Amino acid sequence: MSGIQAVRGMNDLLPGERVRLWHRVESAIRELTSLYGYQEMRTPVLERTELFKRSIGEQTDIVEKEMYTFTDTGGDSLTLRPEATASCVRAGIQHGLFHNQQTRLWYMGPMFRHERPQKGRYRQFHQFGAEAFGWDGPDVDAELIIMSSQLWALLGIERITLELNSIGSPAARAEYRERLVGYFGERKAELDDDSQRRLGSNPLRILDSKNPEMKTIIEEAPQLADYLDDESKTHFDGVKERLNRAGIDFRINQRLVRGLDYYTRTVFEWTTDLLGAQSAVCGGGRYDLLVEQLGGKPTPATGYAIGLERLIELVSLQGGGEEEGATDIYLALLGETAELEGVAIAHQLRTEGYSVVANCGGGNLKKQMKRADRSGASMALIVGDDEINAGTVVIKPLRGVGTQVTVERDSIQSSISGFLVEEN
Ligand code: ATP
Ligand code: MG
Repeated sequence: MSGIQAVRGMNDLLPGERVRLWHRVESAIRELTSLYGYQEMRTPVLERTELFKRSIGEQTDIVEKEMYTFTDTGGDSLTLRPEATASCVRAGIQHGLFHNQQTRLWYMGPMFRHERPQKGRYRQFHQFGAEAFGWDGPDVDAELIIMSSQLWALLGIERITLELNSIGSPAARAEYRERLVGYFGERKAELDDDSQRRLGSNPLRILDSKNPEMKTIIEEAPQLADYLDDESKTHFDGVKERLNRAGIDFRINQRLVRGLDYYTRTVFEWTTDLLGAQSAVCGGGRYDLLVEQLGGKPTPATGYAIGLERLIELVSLQGGGEEEGATDIYLALLGETAELEGVAIAHQLRTEGYSVVANCGGGNLKKQMKRADRSGASMALIVGDDEINAGTVVIKPLRGVGTQVTVERDSIQSSISGFLVEEN
């Protein structure tokens, strides 16, 4: 095809069932965040490149090879955000949101990563995320995890499991890191290229490797749990205890270290076996050092991000779509006077709360009724010059409720209700 195509890995969302699923998920998210008292925050999709280098970390896949970075005409290096936690922290510091305050935030929007596109992995994708700033205890970690699990419940998702780990304090991690470098260093020949590179820069991320050939060497590696400091252990116990009380099952996964550099203590991931290789639906954890790292006052923080494309695919596999927002009325207008008068009729009905698709572009009755059928409306209102003169309209049911009637224009509203097809 010679026409201009969308950028690879970036999707058009066409009208239809899929959009309704997005709406359903977006409303569930709004409901969820208000149930938990989280406030929405919106930040720009473009940020200074420096922000992501300093937060996500130079040695991560994202910063090394996945960012959409360019120099604008003013000479500034800008990047399309690959995630939004850094933006939340940047905005929070800039506007003083963390000054002697505790803040619960959420955001939703497009993110950009130059990855190899495949099912469930795109170059423009969307995340919903929640972040809590100013609390350092296990209570808020548990709150966030319980909150994410309630989203699955709101959407009727069942096949999803929680994996949990603690990566401890920076000091504990440093000690573990040394031990790990020793271990992998001795078996360097068994490491793949990526892991050899990470050995020098970010050895913990070798544990995160998705290469099946690395499985054994990773399984036999020393365990972070053996290096955890006492405070982190107590914190982790507090999280687990609360999840137990909320009746939320989890699996401890020692290998869970998360892809980003800025996590401390609690890390978690929700995965499903229904989406093939792209199994992670939600990732999150505590990141107590990030605010300070980006120039703010030391502020403990914790949060998660959910990939909406993967979530919506799950909803379509498990819950299915629900018909919503179907049109009530198709307004068929025959003749010049009816076309003009139709503007007033449609306006009146919409003011009263009915959804109305008004015929545009003329056409005879047969043509207009074909369009009415295709619109999915519950009924057609037909107005021709005869009806205008008589002060009436014809109501024709389209979805099998009642039979055609002619009613006074003044009483349209009371007549309509009997013809509405309730969606469920
Ligand atoms: P993965 O291991 O699948 O690459 P990740 O660890 O890079 O995920 P995060 O940065 O933690 O993911 O982002 C949180 C969530 O965002 C993921 O669990 C996933 O659902 C979603 N996500 C991440 N990258 C993509 C992408 N390229 N396309 C679609 N969804 C994505
Ligand atoms: Mg990734």
